[in-house]
Amino acid sequence: MEDMGQNLTRLIKERQLDHQYSELIEEVLKDPDVQAFLTDHQDQLTEEMVAKSYAKLYEFVHEKKKFERNDGMMAPGYKPALVMNFKFIDVTYVPTAELVARQKEKEIRDRVRSMDMPKDIRSATMEKFELTDARREAMAEALTFTSNYIENPKDFHKALYLQGSFGVGKTYLLGAIAHDLAKHGHVSTLVHFPSFAVEMKQSIAKNNMGEKLDAVKKTPILMLDDIGADSMSSWIRDDVLGVILQYRMQEQLPTFFSSNFNMQQLESEHLRTTQRGEDEPLKAKRIMERIRYLAKEIQMTGKNRRHSS
Ligand code: ADP
Ligand code: MG
Repeated sequence: MEDMGQNLTRLIKERQLDHQYSELIEEVLKDPDVQAFLTDHQDQLTEEMVAKSYAKLYEFVHEKKKFERNDGMMAPGYKPALVMNFKFIDVTYVPTAELVARQKEKEIRDRVRSMDMPKDIRSATMEKFELTDARREAMAEALTFTSNYIENPKDFHKALYLQGSFGVGKTYLLGAIAHDLAKHGHVSTLVHFPSFAVEMKQSIAKNNMGEKLDAVKKTPILMLDDIGADSMSSWIRDDVLGVILQYRMQEQLPTFFSSNFNMQQLESEHLRTTQRGEDEPLKAKRIMERIRYLAKEIQMTGKNRRHSS
């Protein structure tokens, strides 16, 4: 902005464009917004001050035109405005309502952290959640959770274990809950559990599993999606899942789950038998106790929505 003023002055000096200059100034002074500003501030302004502000007034008119054309602005989303600045007139750039709304929406989205989740999860909202009888209970439970949590985020709130077959909208509902919480300033992390497990396995080799595991463990609200979709090694079950759940219980942090399997199936068919085929009922039971403590089982039924549209 400095530059433009300097350039203009230089231009005038160098080329002696006196005539064009006065035409330019005349035009700037004719601008209705400039006129309105000069009238509104006539008590504070002397002719000399106005003359000293020509470059700024020119900048204002010039940038305003670009803003109105929505093209070539110095700062897109910001509208130029005139202000009094001690002894001259200055231009400031005010964020437009759309920009403010866009920034706010971005802040909300940034509070929904996701790891290996489908992209459309970011646009899931409670408002867009289509209700059917089969989904009503899950929706009601979700709303109860969010309103309780928002009212009292420091207390422990039992989260949900959404159970239902492929495509009924479990992941979508988790995304919608996360978005709702984000609107109230709360950060959630959605994790596609099978991918996370693979990543953890790979990162032991690289010796960097700590950081990501820590982020998942400590996030204010955690959502473990698709638990039980892949068979688990005993290491993933006990040293990854077990450690996460233990921490969340101790710290009383809300933890959601989604699964194609109900809790009983998860225990007997997935947690109990390891990838290697060992039967470990007690270890499975310990994990299940933590899951039951953290979340309430909710059945979601309905048609597979994946191919309906
Ligand atoms: P699940 O996790 O149970 O397998 P998803 O949540 O992935 O199912 O839902 C399947 C598809 O249907 C996704 O593309 C999702 O965006 C869409 N979808 C699911 N539930 C809703 C809903 N209530 N309103 C709008 N779209 C939905
Ligand atoms: Mg899913």
